[in-house]
Amino acid sequence: MKLQPTIGLEIHVQLSTATKMFCRCSVGEAAPNTHCCPTCLGLPGTLPVPNKGALMLATQAANLLGCVIGITSVAERKSYSYPDLPKGYQISQFSSPFAEKGVWKFHVGVEEREVRIRRIQIEEDTAQMRVEKEGCRLDFNRSGIPLLEIVTEPDFTESKEVGAFLRTIRASLVDSGLTDGKMEAGSLRCEPNISWSFPDKSGTKVEIKNLGSIRGVERAINWELAYQKETLDGGGKVEPVTKGWDEKSGRCILQRRKETASDYRYFPEPDLPPLAPCIDELQEENRVHTPFQRGEKLLAMGVAEGFSWMLSLDLKLFQYWEEVVTLGGDPLQSAKWVAGPLVGAWREAGLMPPGNCPNPRDLATLLGLVEKGTISKTVAKGLIPSMITGANPVTMVEEGGLAGGVEDLERLALLAIEENPDAAQKFQSGKEGAIRAVLGTGMRLSRGKADPQALLEAIRIILKA
Ligand SMILES: [Zn+2]
Repeated sequence: MKLQPTIGLEIHVQLSTATKMFCRCSVGEAAPNTHCCPTCLGLPGTLPVPNKGALMLATQAANLLGCVIGITSVAERKSYSYPDLPKGYQISQFSSPFAEKGVWKFHVGVEEREVRIRRIQIEEDTAQMRVEKEGCRLDFNRSGIPLLEIVTEPDFTESKEVGAFLRTIRASLVDSGLTDGKMEAGSLRCEPNISWSFPDKSGTKVEIKNLGSIRGVERAINWELAYQKETLDGGGKVEPVTKGWDEKSGRCILQRRKETASDYRYFPEPDLPPLAPCIDELQEENRVHTPFQRGEKLLAMGVAEGFSWMLSLDLKLFQYWEEVVTLGGDPLQSAKWVAGPLVGAWREAGLMPPGNCPNPRDLATLLGLVEKGTISKTVAKGLIPSMITGANPVTMVEEGGLAGGVEDLERLALLAIEENPDAAQKFQSGKEGAIRAVLGTGMRLSRGKADPQALLEAIRIILKA
């Protein structure tokens, strides 16, 4: 029998509610310690009151992840002592979670994968500790923000699988309005536990914390797997510890020995009723399809893997593509143009996530013109930057005299480059401005008739090829 990498995840998601989990302090950006009250400060004698909005979002998440929702899940106290938790316990769940036994499907490349969700539980966030020169400061604005903890079974065997899982799950949670999903800001946190195990016997797990990006999660997993393998191969033993990922040095650093459930002395929270789901109030139309379902549709239509991945991850891009296709755009070409030139132009103009400009109808028209051979791909690409500010492709083609002039434009660009070998070379070696001289020649050769934007783009494409 062979040892194999075994990875499970714990994901903490800050739910996008207006107020905190057990008090009515507001959530959101504010000066330190201005969004707090006796309850979220953990003062004696206060009573927690559950946030119905958070329970609704949790219900939605449980449905999204295909989990069985517990009819009466119980809040429990998880006791531990740490400066960010002055009351000495966190309200969490242990013996009876909010939901359990779900499954998440996603694509790694064109391959379908499935990971089991062990449980989803509701808890409150702790205060935030900031280590500064003068010492450590506590900010209680974060204390009591509703958190959803999603725990997977140890079904992952490689980091890229974990990356695809996290990217698709984050996209879905954000699309559904459950969280803003900002990993760098801590509203989505992921802690992998990693071991080398035999198929029938699990190895010693190491948990990794402090991961600020999905890329960081992937790197930390690769590092830790290699480290454990080396230790085991050398006859050493893996210790059950918690490590922190150090982005700068690119390695995991020992933090402390791992606690076990009995260390936390869980017992039912006497001040709270069972945390019941809000199934009745969930509207069917609120449910958003997942990146997996989108990917299935794209791949079934023959869209290439890379474009399919990009469109399936972004609900807005996917819906835009769907609309172009509904309006007669070829599915493959539409995917290529949306994920390629259009996203490029939107990004350059700072317009991501995209609105609805160009109108999907205009893109479908543009693609039709290319397909019929009325204009070249080069000309079409040149029109995209104007189209994202609302210009109509047909008008531009007519006014610019671009129709039928496909080869003409490319020929014009080539002629202009031929006349300006020095400027062309300067541009190719990084002097962006040198392209102007080539464009000037091209415009002169066309007697001012060419569309400058399209010509510029044609020259650029030829020089960058
Ligand atoms: Zn409060």
